Amino acid sequence: MNRWLQGRYGFDRFSRTLFIAALGVSVVSWFFGRRAAGVYYALRGVTLALMGFAAFRTFSRNFPARQQELGRYLTAERKVRSWWQDLSIRRKNYVNVRQDKKNYKYLACPQCMQKLRVPKGKGRIRVTCSKCGNRFEAKS
Ligand SMILES: [Zn+2]
Repeated sequence: MNRWLQGRYGFDRFSRTLFIAALGVSVVSWFFGRRAAGVYYALRGVTLALMGFAAFRTFSRNFPARQQELGRYLTAERKVRSWWQDLSIRRKNYVNVRQDKKNYKYLACPQCMQKLRVPKGKGRIRVTCSKCGNRFEAKS
């Protein structure tokens, strides 16, 4: 294996992603199978192109070019990752806000206007302001 790859660039993270993407596209192409021959062959073509590029990179002797590609790829990967993290954080917040709205009601203290969170659906309740200590009744 090492002898075989002597002087060759080898398999890096970018090639690994290309390879995984090729497998993914290949699975999708099976799904189209005979139902849509055009799509099937197009996806097969994409699979072969991705695998071909991964193989080409692995056996390449042009190290600087491959390293430059890897650098560009890693930058893109980082962007995608941080975008995805942002998205999942935003989604979690959205779910939290919705649950909050379902379970709590927000009132303003009539004396100091402090916003107070009270449980919903408890009928008339006594509220004590956490800021000024004012007590008042409110519908929850
Ligand atoms: Zn108050």
